[in-house]
Amino acid sequence: MFTRSASQPISVVTGGAGFLGSHLTDRLLKEGHRVIAIDNFITGSTANIEHLAGNENYRFIKHDVSNYIFLPDDVDYIFHFASPASPIDYLEHPIPTLKVGSLGTHNALGLAKAKGAGFLLASTSECYGDPLVHPQREDYWGNVNPIGPRGVYDEAKRFAEAITMAYYRYHHVNTHIVRIFNTYGPRMRLRDGRVVPAFIGQALSAEPLTIFGDGSQTRSFCYCSDLIDGIFKLSQSDFHEPVNIGNPREMTIKQFAEEIIRITEASSEIEYRPLPVDDPKVRQPDITRARTVLGWEPRVDFDQGIRQTIDYFRTRIA
Ligand code: NAD
Ligand code: UDP
Repeated sequence: MFTRSASQPISVVTGGAGFLGSHLTDRLLKEGHRVIAIDNFITGSTANIEHLAGNENYRFIKHDVSNYIFLPDDVDYIFHFASPASPIDYLEHPIPTLKVGSLGTHNALGLAKAKGAGFLLASTSECYGDPLVHPQREDYWGNVNPIGPRGVYDEAKRFAEAITMAYYRYHHVNTHIVRIFNTYGPRMRLRDGRVVPAFIGQALSAEPLTIFGDGSQTRSFCYCSDLIDGIFKLSQSDFHEPVNIGNPREMTIKQFAEEIIRITEASSEIEYRPLPVDDPKVRQPDITRARTVLGWEPRVDFDQGIRQTIDYFRTRIA
């Protein structure tokens, strides 16, 4: 059991066996925290945390946080990252996605309140839906189809933001909300369906790159270490409204496919597939708030980040 000490804060990371939760854990351990990771492996993997086995500052609990979370330990901070995140994952698990965004967030906030801990919600640019304002600023309320297939994720996260603000205003929990824009890097699942692992996996296997729609839709890709840095800074701040964290470098999905083919020197062709329902046409973060409030700025350029990610996927395919 971890007990409070001034020198070693105790952080809980829900979704700690996932792509971002495991990178956040590594960063927190580096900052001198002790970390309790909680995950039910619905989309996570033991491979993301096996390097932590035997670390006395780390503990793992297999648990579904949509059910009551019992923890005897002292807790200083809770990072709530548990949720399927890839469109394929949340379409395959619509009810668990709704439950973890609503019941799971309620349980994690209840734990924060009971322990007197700070709380950070991993929210998403999907709160803006298929945006009619571009680039997206935090004061834009979004354009979400609540009953479309993506609604299970978007509305769960919007509820999660609402309950987080309620715990801040009515229970005075020290809460933070990050709206994460498309983030990529090592430890993504090769077959999670998101465009970065999909295209890299296809290029490295000399298969066609599958562009959904005509490829004119845009995304802005942020490397994971930049994102984690922004999240850590936000957790230390006294700012309570949502903050966009992402890299404003925007490109079309067609340009992204061409970049992957160029960098991997793949012989792959491009194959066009139907565009999924409600797929946002544009996405780019306005990061003025993160710049001014946190002094945060992405540092890893696209070429450098994507090459490191490709190197990682080579080891998964070999
Ligand atoms: P991921 O699927 O790799 O990680 C999510 C983790 O949560 C997995 O390990 C999964 O097993 C776990 N989980 C899900 N439901 C759970 C439950 N009920 N109880 C316990 N564990 C549960 O995805 P990720 O990309 O690391 O995303 C992490 C968080 O960041 C998510 O909340 C996601 O919505 C948010 N986010 C990510 C991105 C991105 O680009 N990666 C963008 C926006 C928001
Ligand atoms: N996409 C694609 N081919 C794929 C996977 C995704 O063209 O094999 C497109 C998808 O339709 C979307 C963009 O790439 O327009 C980003 O998709 P992703 O699943 O990574 O996340 P999203 O940003 O939609 O949440």
